[in-house]
Amino acid sequence: MAEFSLRELLASRAGEDADLWARTINPQFVRVLRTIDFDRTWTRAEGQYLWDEDGERYLDLLAGFGMYNVGRNNPSVRAAIAEYLELETPGMLAMGVTALPGLLAEALLARVPPRLERCLFTSTGTEAVEAALKLGRAATGRTRVISAEHGFHGLTLGSLSANGCPEFTDRFQPLLPGFERVPFGDLAALDEHLRREDVALFLVEPVQGKGVHLPPAGYLEGAQELCRRYGTLFAVDEVQTGFGRTGTMFAFEHWGLEPDLVPVAKSLSGGYVPVGALLMARSVHHAVFDSMEHAVSHGSTFAPNELAMAAGLATLHELDERGLVAESARLGARLLELTQPLVEEFDVVSDVRGLGLMWAIEWAEPPGGSRSWRMLERMQPGLFAQLVIGPLFTKHRILTQVAGHNMAVLKALPPLVVTDEDVDYFVDSLRESIRKATRTPSSLMRLGLTAVRAR
Ligand code: PMP
Repeated sequence: MAEFSLRELLASRAGEDADLWARTINPQFVRVLRTIDFDRTWTRAEGQYLWDEDGERYLDLLAGFGMYNVGRNNPSVRAAIAEYLELETPGMLAMGVTALPGLLAEALLARVPPRLERCLFTSTGTEAVEAALKLGRAATGRTRVISAEHGFHGLTLGSLSANGCPEFTDRFQPLLPGFERVPFGDLAALDEHLRREDVALFLVEPVQGKGVHLPPAGYLEGAQELCRRYGTLFAVDEVQTGFGRTGTMFAFEHWGLEPDLVPVAKSLSGGYVPVGALLMARSVHHAVFDSMEHAVSHGSTFAPNELAMAAGLATLHELDERGLVAESARLGARLLELTQPLVEEFDVVSDVRGLGLMWAIEWAEPPGGSRSWRMLERMQPGLFAQLVIGPLFTKHRILTQVAGHNMAVLKALPPLVVTDEDVDYFVDSLRESIRKATRTPSSLMRLGLTAVRAR
């Protein structure tokens, strides 16, 4: 009988990645990658680097949408996973408990304010948000949920109902009743809703991930105060901003916040295993799990899975041991300092912003008006950003992405293990790519037309 070998299987099907995806998973996504010339066959990864089949090294500034904070193929996390597999633990018992979930819950709760006393594991970020919605409603006896415009909280139906990005919500109506949005940063609008004292929770990202929008001064503190005043739970979505991304373990620390509900996910397992968690106040948990009869009122089969728990414990250890949270703060400040002058240097650059290693540069039509800019962006919003992101990838071998609701943002979420040299290389390459993009109207048009035709 032939033994199963992953290595042999992958070797025998080498180079078929895109065709397989196009045939079985998502042909449109493969078309997008081919159109923007991002279709490489990836063979290896380590830390902040990826290698393609030609042996070319790429600097990864996306970290898999923020799940590789400790770097790809982190050796310590991998060793913990291997050790876990060798231990042959009982695994998940259904009617029983084991130590690993308790140990990870304890480690997570030790890193947040004492107000947060319970941890409910999930497998993804969106499920952690779903849990916040469900438990928050039950705990308050209220049904309304307020979130922020352009906020992103996941794509399952509950989270999507709180999602403030029309490009994700429009085609899936009607969503859940009782969900409304307010502009991010607008305390008066939030007050209007909360003062009715029928809002279960206000759900907000401390830094909005879609376009890397930072909260105005005093906003999150004010929102927390309003929540407390009107009996609304304050839910801070740390799925993207957690685990050192913004230069503190959790972003809410920047403003000294004490939320009632905190969904986390992404980097918790070092990017190896799906995992998420909802950290919450004891009162919220108690409202739902209030008796033995209700001991299993919410959860999912794989949620506290031991492999994810082992990876989570090793990831937290790695963040601490290597001082990666402080590194995120230091390197983020440096990246910001080196890139903020671009606003003065180029009239298409309208803003450069960031917190820790969550960073973005935004483009806008130059102040005096530009006919080619308008033509381009009318053809397809986000084309200018693509003109920078394209050469960054093909020439400088740096992976970034278009972001923002107007698609006029280039976003970077590097693994926290990037070096000063990586930051310098990115800044030099970015400057050169912007210079070229603003000077080559003909190639610009060609790319624009190709992208439009491919739609
Ligand atoms: N909340 C935020 C702030 C996110 O950035 C994301 C994912 N981008 C989610 C929730 C959903 O997480 P997941 O993709 O794991 O479902």
